[in-house]
Amino acid sequence: MEPVLREFRDRLRRRLAPMRYRLQKLLAALTPEIREIHTQRMCPFCGLVTSRSKQCLECGKTLAEVHT
Ligand SMILES: [Zn+2]
Repeated sequence: MEPVLREFRDRLRRRLAPMRYRLQKLLAALTPEIREIHTQRMCPFCGLVTSRSKQCLECGKTLAEVHT
């Protein structure tokens, strides 16, 4: 590879490094969805996973507040 091209590639890589860091931070900001999965509750009566609902969508029973 030509030295000029190699230098250009190295410079590009150095310039992309902070961008990759920013992208990782952005992805970290988008991941609260994963935490939301943990807040989902499983109905003890029918086993349906209900997200943040006080009432089961399947059997209609009121779900107890369970903090895990
Ligand atoms: Zn249920």
